[in-house]
Amino acid sequence: MPDLPNLNSSVRYAKGVGEKKAQLFKRLGISTIFDLLHHFPTHYEDRSHIVPIGHTLADKKQVIQGKILLVDQLKAGKNLSILKVAVRDTTGIIYAIWYNQEYLSQYLKKEKELLVSGKVEWKFGERQIKVEDFELLTGDEEDNLHLKRIVPFYPLTEGLSHRMLRRIIKLNLEKLSPYLVDILPQEMKRHYSFIPFKEALNNIHFPESFPRQKEAHRRLVFEEFFLLQSALALKKREYKKERGISFKVGDGLIKSFFHSLPYPLTLSQKRVIKEVLEDMHGSQPMNRLLQGDVGSGKTIVATIALLTAILNGYQTALMAPTEILAQQHWLNLRELLHPLNIKLALLVSDLPSREKKEILKGLKEGKIQLVIGTHALIQEEVDFYKLGAVVIDEQHRFGVMQRLSLRSKGKLPDVLVMTATPIPRTLALTSYGDLDLSVIDELPPGRKSIITRWISESRRKELYQFITQELKRGKQAYFVYPLIEESKELDLKPAQDAADHLKRDIFPNFKVQLLHGRMKREEKEKIMHLFRMGKISILVSTTVIEVGIDIPNANLMVIENTERFGLAQLHQLRGRVGRGAKQSYCFLLTGKKISEEGRKRMKVMCKTTDGFRIAEEDLNLRGPGEFFGTRQWGMLNLKIADLIKDAKMLYLTRKEAFQLVQKDPELKSYPRLREGIERRFPHRLELAKVG
Ligand code: ADP
Ligand code: MG
Repeated sequence: MPDLPNLNSSVRYAKGVGEKKAQLFKRLGISTIFDLLHHFPTHYEDRSHIVPIGHTLADKKQVIQGKILLVDQLKAGKNLSILKVAVRDTTGIIYAIWYNQEYLSQYLKKEKELLVSGKVEWKFGERQIKVEDFELLTGDEEDNLHLKRIVPFYPLTEGLSHRMLRRIIKLNLEKLSPYLVDILPQEMKRHYSFIPFKEALNNIHFPESFPRQKEAHRRLVFEEFFLLQSALALKKREYKKERGISFKVGDGLIKSFFHSLPYPLTLSQKRVIKEVLEDMHGSQPMNRLLQGDVGSGKTIVATIALLTAILNGYQTALMAPTEILAQQHWLNLRELLHPLNIKLALLVSDLPSREKKEILKGLKEGKIQLVIGTHALIQEEVDFYKLGAVVIDEQHRFGVMQRLSLRSKGKLPDVLVMTATPIPRTLALTSYGDLDLSVIDELPPGRKSIITRWISESRRKELYQFITQELKRGKQAYFVYPLIEESKELDLKPAQDAADHLKRDIFPNFKVQLLHGRMKREEKEKIMHLFRMGKISILVSTTVIEVGIDIPNANLMVIENTERFGLAQLHQLRGRVGRGAKQSYCFLLTGKKISEEGRKRMKVMCKTTDGFRIAEEDLNLRGPGEFFGTRQWGMLNLKIADLIKDAKMLYLTRKEAFQLVQKDPELKSYPRLREGIERRFPHRLELAKVG
């Protein structure tokens, strides 16, 4: 006899499912019985009170039930048909109204018992109900699942109806009742007065009342976040067991390097550098995320980390998401580190093969002390002699796997990842929860807040006049055009045309230059060099300048078709200006058609330059799936908890989980909890082993 199905069994062994339905469930992301029981309703309808037809009130949503008396179909216009069904109970008659759903008449037969929910209205002296939802009742016992109670509604897929899901979930809740045991530690349950797990599951699917449903929800949200945070805590713990490199810090050379900087560091920078150096000094490998808004000065922190490793006799790597940014870092660091006589190289993908060979050789033999590059750094052919520290800039452009593969080029090197994408704290604690977090929360002094204006097309001329004035004073400007895909010839056209137009008709006395991602590397380098030197006044560009570019004298930005960009990207783009002491401006131009959401985005941009606030708004506007990118979000795989609404719960569970893992590093006294984590977030624990 096969084992009884348990929570980990395939959903096809669930009661009432079988092979065919299991395929349908796959589409809903349900593969095990556990998943099935964690397929939560999106909303409920209170059908516990069926209103006698004669007592229904106008303009209010209500549920009625009665026998079908009569079915009538009316043509009310070319594109409008009305299905009108008279329903009677002992107190009266009401007409249920459907629009353009003629096909339903084949099901709605006289004498059948019908349940309808919707808004009731008085019309032409009749009582009508506009059908929002309805069910034909079969008269058997099962009807009790679908009415006379608070009824759940689920995410569906073709071939699976609410009725089926209700039935299947109910059956399995009962059947698997013995397995529905609490995995939360006893003391925690008591402390938060949680209802038992079984009760929570029952009440989330088939609430006895709305207060009970709330309690169930609270408990399940807690559990989900708590399992996730426990997984992260375990993973982090595993990192901490590793023996990495213990660097000597505070070398005299570093001190003189500090003194040679053209500016004093901000307090935030100092604090963060201290955190980084403490990590590097410790014997556990550093795994740290450095967050700081655009322009907050992260590069210098990275430089100090890299330099420390180099002075300890190790090789280092700095990876950036675009060639232009890698190039900029290379130029910068070459200059900063020049007095120290350090051997640097730039590794990008389309180098001439002889040059590339030489760099690969230099890395393998340990002659190159700092390599700066793009994805090219994680190619298989890249080998280091003794890699001690790596920095990944603009980490949000890379995946976890890329981080890990750069790390694996050395023997447990120290890793610092940096991002300006202001990840809301809630996400930082989930997606990057295995990393230690450092935050630079101030900008260098003397920066003026960027003035941002949403300009209507009719004022374009005025805008050009203003820009001309600024250019005459020696300032520089970016004109940015959105691209759907940089790879397509067609998409480059608007930027190309605009560059020609601006050059010829608007700014004939200034040097205007186009820059886009498909240009040859040398060409891009040359253009950026000329722009940096002030030899180009206007850079007409696609979004290749989005990340990292730092040219303080450029204080003007015009963004065309702004509505096509997301908030996070706009914030990054705007971050290219406002880097000097001079007042900076960002002008947003939009196309004619702009959605309500688009308008909101423009307003947010004009209202604030605070990256964290923008990120929160972005998350609110787009929802987590869009915001994080579906893949990353899919990996997170939350079924009930909501990063925005349940943020408080997230912080709470994080505290609890890390405390518990501190007390019991392998959760030996909590075998059920451990099992629960493995079932719910296996991927998270897996990474712990790989990383
Ligand atoms: P981001 O955090 O966006 O990478 P950068 O490291 O590019 O920022 O720094 C932005 C600009 O601010 C650079 O021109 C840098 O030289 C300058 N900068 C960094 N730190 C300071 C500071 N403490 N005081 C003044 N300017 C600074
Ligand atoms: Mg940067």
